[in-house]
Order: sequence, then C-alpha cells, then structure tokens
Amino acid sequence: MVKLTFYGGVNEIDGNKILLEDKGTKIFLDFGQSFTFGTEFFTSWLQPRGLNGLGDYFEFNLLPKLSGLYSKEMLASTNLTYAEPEIDCVFLSHAHFDHITHIQFLDPEIPVCMGVGTKLFMESMEETGFFADYGQHTCNKFRTGHKIKIGDLTVEPIAVDHSIPAAYGFIIHTSEGNVVYTGDLRRHGPRKDLTENFIQKATEAEPAALICEGTRMAEHETHQNYSEPQVKAISDKTVKATDKAVFTMHASRDIDRFKTFYEVAKNNNRKMVITPKTAYLLTKLLDDEHLPVPDPLKDDCLKVYYKKKKSGRYDEKDYFLWERKFMDKMVDCSYVRKNQRKLIMDLDFFQFGELIDIKPEPGSEFIHSMSEPFSEEDIEDQVMHNWLDHFKLHFHQVHASGHMSKEQLVEMVKEIQPKKAFAVHTENQGLFKTYCFNMQIIEAEKEYPI
Ligand SMILES: [Zn+2]
Repeated sequence: MVKLTFYGGVNEIDGNKILLEDKGTKIFLDFGQSFTFGTEFFTSWLQPRGLNGLGDYFEFNLLPKLSGLYSKEMLASTNLTYAEPEIDCVFLSHAHFDHITHIQFLDPEIPVCMGVGTKLFMESMEETGFFADYGQHTCNKFRTGHKIKIGDLTVEPIAVDHSIPAAYGFIIHTSEGNVVYTGDLRRHGPRKDLTENFIQKATEAEPAALICEGTRMAEHETHQNYSEPQVKAISDKTVKATDKAVFTMHASRDIDRFKTFYEVAKNNNRKMVITPKTAYLLTKLLDDEHLPVPDPLKDDCLKVYYKKKKSGRYDEKDYFLWERKFMDKMVDCSYVRKNQRKLIMDLDFFQFGELIDIKPEPGSEFIHSMSEPFSEEDIEDQVMHNWLDHFKLHFHQVHASGHMSKEQLVEMVKEIQPKKAFAVHTENQGLFKTYCFNMQIIEAEKEYPI
C-alpha cells in the first residue's frame, strides 16, 4: 500500500514534512520548519540549547520521534535510540526555510535531493549567515527532466515559478499510481511558463493523489497583490516621479524582485546599491547557467554598501572573508548621502541604523515590497513606520505574492483532476474542500492511503 503521512504543513502555512511510503521505500518531501515553531516555549533569547541536539525539541514534542531518521549526534541527549536510516531520501522543493531547515537534524547517511540552484542558495546562506547550518549530507542535485529512482519509486522534479528561483514540484511514480506534489508555486510570476508546464505534466500523469499547497486559500484576501510586471511598473512610476532617494525592502532571496528593482534602476539611470550578502548570493548563482543574474563584480549599475566598522574606517581586515571580495565596488554612507538622488538602495529592516548616517532628504521614497504584516500589532511594522516617519520617507506597499490566488488554486486542482487531493501549507483545508470535492481533510501524523 502507498501511504502518505503529514508531519508538518497541516493547518499551517509552512513547515512541510511529508512522508511517502511505497512497500519498503520511504521518502520525505521537504523537511522544513514552521514560522510558529516552538513559540509556545521559546522566545527571543530563550531558545533550544544547541548542545542538547534534539533533546529540547523532543521535550515539547516539537519534532516527530521517528526511528531511523535523525543523526546519532542529535539523538545523544534524548531517549530515542539511534537506528540505521529507515528513510531512503529527502527531496527538497526549494530553499525557503519552511521547506528545508530541519534537515540539520537528519542522519547524514540519508541522501538529500535538491535542485542545482537550491544547493547554491543553501551554500550561500551557510557561508554568509550566522545561524544557517544544514548539516552534512550526500547531496544529489537535479533539474527538470531528471528521473530519480529510489527503491520502488521514481521521482520526477519539474521546475515551477515561485518567489525564489529553482523551485520544483514533483511527480512521483509509485506502484499504485502517480502522486503529484506542488511545492510552493504561482501562476503570475515572471516564469509562469514553468508553472504551466508543471500543471500540464501533472495533468498528463493522471495522478492518484495530489498534494497541493494552499497558502492563499482564504475566504477573502485582505492584502493587495500584484503581478511582478505590475510591481515593476508601479515602482518605475514612483522612481520617475521623484528626484530624491529611493529605498526598497524585499525578501533577500527573492531574485525576481531584485531583478525588478535592478531594471527599474537602469531605466532611470540610477545605480542600485545592494548589501555584500546579496552580492555574494549573485556571484554564487552565476554558477547556474539557468538562472541569469548580473555579476556584481562586473556590472556598472551595481554598488555594494559597506557598514562602518568599529575602527570607523573601512579596513579590509574588519570584514568577513566572504565580504571582502566586493570592496572594489564599495560605497559607504557618505557616498550614498552625496549621491542619493542617483541611487536605488536595498535597505532591510536590520540596516535601518544606516539611515542615521545617510541622512535621506525628507520626502524620499521607501518601497516596501514584501508581504504586509498579518497583525496590526506587529511590533516590527510599528518600529519600521516610526523610522519612516522620523526620516519623512514616503511609504509605498507594492508586492507580488509567491503563491497562487484562491481562484488559481481551485482552477489548478480542477485542471489536474487527481483522484484524491490533500491540501498542505494552508490554514483553510475546509474551505478548499468546499471548492474541490476530492479534497481529503488531513490530520497531522496520521497515515493516508493514496
Ligand atoms: Zn516557499
């Protein structure tokens, strides 16, 4: 019997961990962390103790206690005995943390399969981040067109469009029919052709079961969502209408959004100022010929912003090795202050302190190009607005979601016509079921035959 068990992503918009079993073969589809993971017991500086491996997580039942899944080291301080791997492989759909983070706990003997680009994103995060460590695994990289045989299963990854490049859906050929997993996807992005191709292949596979994401499945959508070309057009208009500075804030790995602002900068004869971290990620992605990005070391439009270090100077030795590479393209706060009318600058929340040195002219523009806060009590949002008010920056909300709308989700399920469908990555399974008669309501950690 082919079975599915959902260990994450059930009634929550994240944290996918889906176990698929066919006879003796077991694979996981994604192994991510939810946004609210552990927040009942941990907050700010009170966090699970790294030295205790999975001990602190198991104490509060935050991760499934499955045999043959975790590494010896992570189990050392728990009462779950280490066992040789019982999972044959873990497939990652894309490099968002709610799909990958918990692979850090896995037995290194379990191979992890991911897209070529996903591997580059993860390496970049590990090399430039303080907290990213995904552990040591045998990594098998795939692209669309590959067919990966794991025991009784064959897994076919197919690229889709999402708010991070190198995102994939999967068609899994099992002994009882095909299972399709969407990962996260959208139909209104710059590579919507990829999603259309995936939906077509998924339909042709006549799946016995579809595992579908449902992020935007909601009665009413409260936030304004644009397509990527609309984000570009609105931002372009905003830039054309001002002769002052323009600051932008967007998800750091949303390369489509970076490219949107990069093109807006070029159209308006401005330079684009990015962080060393973004510059590093771009140089990494240059290794994947399928992901065209500008080279920050060669591109005249790109400048790299360096924060002042304690010495008050910009000595190479004060910066991490990975940061030093872009110092020829370096700009500092006084450069930005003097040239602010000719720049578009990426400014994330944690860089706001730089505004004190940059001294933007009152009436400069600030384009917030990411999701709006989900709650009116969002502290970060309040703090952000206090800063914007203080510096008299004009706020604009312009964002294109990484996910399909409710209507598009329903249309996709109807198009693919699976015999059964399961909705993950959603808080609204029930609503999904009212539109799609073949939708099965799932509970976490229960087995479902396909
Ligand atoms: Zn995602």
